[in-house]
Amino acid sequence: MKLAVIEGDGIGREVIPVAVKVLDAFGLEIEKVPLELGYARWERTGAAMSDQDIETIKGCDAVLFGAVTTVPDPSYKSVLLTIRKELDLYANIRPVKPLPGVTGVTGRSDFDFIIVRENTEGLYSGIEEIGPDLSWTKRVVTRKGSERIAEYACKLAKKRKNNLTIVHKSNVLKSDKLFLDVCRQTASAHGVEYSDILVDSMAYSLMMHPERYDVVVTTNLFGDILSDMCASLVGSLGLVPSANIGEKYAFFEPVHGSAPDIAGKGISNPLAAILCVKMLMEWMGQSRSLLIDEAIVDVLQKKIITPDLGGTASTTEVGNAIEKYIRDALG
Ligand code: NAD
Repeated sequence: MKLAVIEGDGIGREVIPVAVKVLDAFGLEIEKVPLELGYARWERTGAAMSDQDIETIKGCDAVLFGAVTTVPDPSYKSVLLTIRKELDLYANIRPVKPLPGVTGVTGRSDFDFIIVRENTEGLYSGIEEIGPDLSWTKRVVTRKGSERIAEYACKLAKKRKNNLTIVHKSNVLKSDKLFLDVCRQTASAHGVEYSDILVDSMAYSLMMHPERYDVVVTTNLFGDILSDMCASLVGSLGLVPSANIGEKYAFFEPVHGSAPDIAGKGISNPLAAILCVKMLMEWMGQSRSLLIDEAIVDVLQKKIITPDLGGTASTTEVGNAIEKYIRDALG
């Protein structure tokens, strides 16, 4: 197994080394391929990434990614969008589950759901024209794109509570009717219980009744917005991991960005990046990944936590405590 490791910018350079140490504690046979991509590279060389980087990444099985700083300069090519497209990472997966003793804006901890976002089409098609008086972006929904994300969501639901919620806006965006129909048909074919809801109602419902949901499937933009909103349910952006999955490759990244306001201070929360390692190990079929949950519960109980969670521990102290727990448990 070959893993491309991209720290990126800002706190990506702090949390990814910690996450890699946690991964190393399992002693798995993983060849790591470090790559420098992102804003710092663009400042130094004029290119955030190159075609050769894409080829190197394609020679790996998976990617562990920190975060990159983005700037609105037309010459700054989006690293994330390029990789997602090149590796055809069609499913964006965000588990939304509270950690013990940590609550978010609602103060609730009785929920555990996963957002499955279509990652390649919708309003992020890239088909657009920008003019001084008229600008437009084409919203693309295909049967193939809808089928494969619906399949992914249904298979996931089968392993969980067998319940799928299809989020759409087909009353206004007629293109969503295809997405909705395909999701319904796929859920029926898999014997998955399903319901559907308009995205605006869903935003309200997720805040009021997050416990109602198991697997939530939706299109690209809606998934992007709802999943960031749901980070507020779990307490800190520093706690939320995500995976981008394709037929061949997988890409794991914390939801947070490069956090320039705290970068270099050694206080960034590494738990999202460490939970990315857990998702990577699950993708590899490694059941020992459950030790990561145990280790996180342990540091939370001992209050070895970073300032975003009200603690005083540094990024490294949290990482070291988790690594030690795992090494001790594995003997
Ligand atoms: P951000 O996620 O970097 O930070 C938002 C807030 O959350 C900040 O106050 C930050 O200190 C805090 N925060 C984030 N992660 C944290 C952690 N692990 N521990 C403790 N606190 C944490 O979002 P932003 O400030 O809007 O963006 C900063 C830069 O990151 C921008 O250039 C943006 O474009 C980029 N960005 C990149 C990605 C990515 O690479 N996937 C995602 C989002 C934003």
